[in-house]
Amino acid sequence: MNDAWDVIVIGGGNAGLCAALSAREAGAEVLVLERSSMEKRGGNSAFTGGGFRMVHHGTEDIRAVVPDLTEDEIARTDFGQYTAEDYLDDLGRVTQYYIDPDLAETLVRSSRETVRWMQGKGVRFEPRWGSQAFNVEGRFKFFGGVAVNAKGGGRGLVEYLYKAAEQHGVAVRYGVRAGALLCGPDGIEGVRLRVGGREETLGARAAVLACGGFEANREMRTRYLGPGWDMAKVRGTRFNLGDGIRMALDIGAQSYGQWSGCHAVQWERHAPDFGDIDAHGSSQRHSYPFGIVVNAEGRRFVDEGADFRNYTYAKYGRIVLAQPGSFAWQVFDRQVAHLLREDYRLRGATRVRADTLEELADRMQDVHPRQFVQTVREYNAAVRRDVPFNPNVRDGRCTTGLALDKSNWANPIEVPPFEAYSVGCGITFTFGGVKIDTAAHVLDVEDRAIPGLYAAGDLVGGLYYFNYPGSAGLMGGAVFGRIAGRGAAAHARGAHPSAP
Ligand SMILES: Cc1cc2nc3c(=O)[nH]c(=O)nc-3n(C[C@H](O)[C@H](O)[C@H](O)COP(=O)(O)OP(=O)(O)OC[C@H]3O[C@@H](n4cnc5c(N)ncnc54)[C@H](O)[C@@H]3O)c2cc1C
Repeated sequence: MNDAWDVIVIGGGNAGLCAALSAREAGAEVLVLERSSMEKRGGNSAFTGGGFRMVHHGTEDIRAVVPDLTEDEIARTDFGQYTAEDYLDDLGRVTQYYIDPDLAETLVRSSRETVRWMQGKGVRFEPRWGSQAFNVEGRFKFFGGVAVNAKGGGRGLVEYLYKAAEQHGVAVRYGVRAGALLCGPDGIEGVRLRVGGREETLGARAAVLACGGFEANREMRTRYLGPGWDMAKVRGTRFNLGDGIRMALDIGAQSYGQWSGCHAVQWERHAPDFGDIDAHGSSQRHSYPFGIVVNAEGRRFVDEGADFRNYTYAKYGRIVLAQPGSFAWQVFDRQVAHLLREDYRLRGATRVRADTLEELADRMQDVHPRQFVQTVREYNAAVRRDVPFNPNVRDGRCTTGLALDKSNWANPIEVPPFEAYSVGCGITFTFGGVKIDTAAHVLDVEDRAIPGLYAAGDLVGGLYYFNYPGSAGLMGGAVFGRIAGRGAAAHARGAHPSAP
């Protein structure tokens, strides 16, 4: 075996790079192993919009991470606030209170400080005006808890993190696939990997697993998420095959969280099998709260306005997958066309348009036309037109008396031209993984830490069940990545890490 590294980090996305920077800050010699080429680096993190869900108490906290915010921008923006209690409530509510309370507390209480730490490492942030705030009479008002994103989105985030890694002396090897953890009587001793067709072994005093979930692995998807999931499109990287989870389980780690659950969204029906980083965003279809969604039978099947998109989008992909033929159509009229996200206008959208509902129905491939027209008529008749429409709040403009009512933002679909967009299911990441404690140690089946083994990011189980609040993924990866790196460095050097 080669000379041992202090810390080997497996996976070079957001969680892995935060772990690497933190381990290096604590004085460790750090190597990151990344399966992709340098050009495709960054994993799913590179595919994101770069949004971070952090606690904040308004303008001063935002200014602390966006120091170049101008007075004019401040005057034009109402950031509101997002307290620790709000965050914990959201995490509890969307996960039906299954979330591990200790991990939730750590994520929430460390969120703001971790974003500041990242900013100190060179990551630049900006207010997330584009998708998390509506412009009301010239002033942007934020909703939904996500006030900032990395400049340049996910790609920007990844470039800032790799630049910081380089500046701080973190070594990175691309094009290598870690395959096994080597373990001795005192814990982690190294990592076995493949480079091309060749096997190699590297010594390490500690390891951080940060190589994502199993969303890109058809076989594991079908086995754990259930029949039909082999057909889902992967929104991000093709490299997250569950390797890290398997490596940990092989040496006795405890499986944890909702293995049958995942984050999956409504996604362009004819999107490619895997994400295309150069076409970022073009397959997203997140404006459904302003319209209706119908299946092949021409019927609605979800409450499109149950909540802000941030709190429903991650669970609606699964519901689309369960529809006949695993597809649906989102339908809008001219009154809300200006509210549709930019993705709807990009190349690659399966869109039909018409001046009458009957014509639209004929163009919506594989949909029962008469039932569709009847669904729209019944829906229109049920809209509470006396309640004003307001996209910034849960406006209570609902339908009444339908078998499946719409709770908010119910506008009748009656002003031509009408537009419909065909969607399928796009999987983002999986919820099941390994168990960690609040110090990011990987635990065995008796809840004892496996010496020298840490984990962070999407391969950690216990954070999300059934659903997920938008932009908690990057935040959680950064919080636990930072903790994992610090812990791994301390372990490697025979010291105890200081508290987060
Ligand atoms: C389209 C899209 C948009 C999203 N938008 C947001 C958002 O705005 N905000 C948010 O918080 N979350 C968002 N998410 C979720 C977010 O991407 C994840 O929660 C987060 O990026 C996970 O980070 P990670 O470091 O755990 O994994 P990744 O970033 O996926 O990194 C894992 C890395 O491990 C590497 N790897 C895998 N196996 C091996 C192996 N055997 N050996 C070596 N390397 C390996 C992979 O190549 C990859 O680079 C989005 C996801 C997608 C797909």
